[in-house]
Amino acid sequence: MFDLEKLEKVKIKALEAHIPIIMDDTLEKIKEILIEENPKKILEIGTAVGYSASQFVRFVPNAIVDTIELDETRAKEAQENVQKIGIAEHVCILVGNAVEILPTLEGKYDIIFIDANKGKYPIFLQEAIRLVKDNGLIIADNILYKGYVMSDYNKHKQRTAVKHLREYIQMATENEKLETEILEVGDGLAISRVKKVDENENL
Ligand code: SAH
Ligand code: MG
Repeated sequence: MFDLEKLEKVKIKALEAHIPIIMDDTLEKIKEILIEENPKKILEIGTAVGYSASQFVRFVPNAIVDTIELDETRAKEAQENVQKIGIAEHVCILVGNAVEILPTLEGKYDIIFIDANKGKYPIFLQEAIRLVKDNGLIIADNILYKGYVMSDYNKHKQRTAVKHLREYIQMATENEKLETEILEVGDGLAISRVKKVDENENL
């Protein structure tokens, strides 16, 4: 049983605590993608309190979400939340730094959602390419970062984050294995389809 009311409470509490949970219009887009792709295994980088992970399970009830969170307090709250919502068996929370955890993962994922430390997005993308299935999707949130990424804004204290997000976009658009579109939905969403197998090899 999925307790939608509990999920709504998680959302309200997260917003009150200024936790940067996924925006409604971004979630709407991801919902469409999830229903279309019907993933079995999802990897999320940046659990926070489990809001987005729970939404993913809501839209694909049979999916398993592995999700990584650095902050122990948040990870603990996320665990409690998925229990309350009734989906604990579908969400596996890995506590620690994704930069260290990702290289230890082996399984193949249908969809990988990147939503953590922006300065690490290029590293996350590299690991995601390794961990995603052929023809799978890598989705990165906050890729336009309040518009800073596409402007000439350089003095902001988040300068390094902006630099790394630009680097992510460059990697995602120049890598031959990836077909990437950048959407202006929410805080910017990068969606990359990954073709791992070289089509010429099959000729
Ligand atoms: N996806 C969530 C929001 C995530 S907010 C939702 O939409 O509901 C980003 C989270 O990433 C924060 O909780 C932060 O603690 C975590 N984070 C930041 N850097 C990280 C890292 N290197 N490894 C794992 N988690 C990280
Ligand atoms: Mg986000």
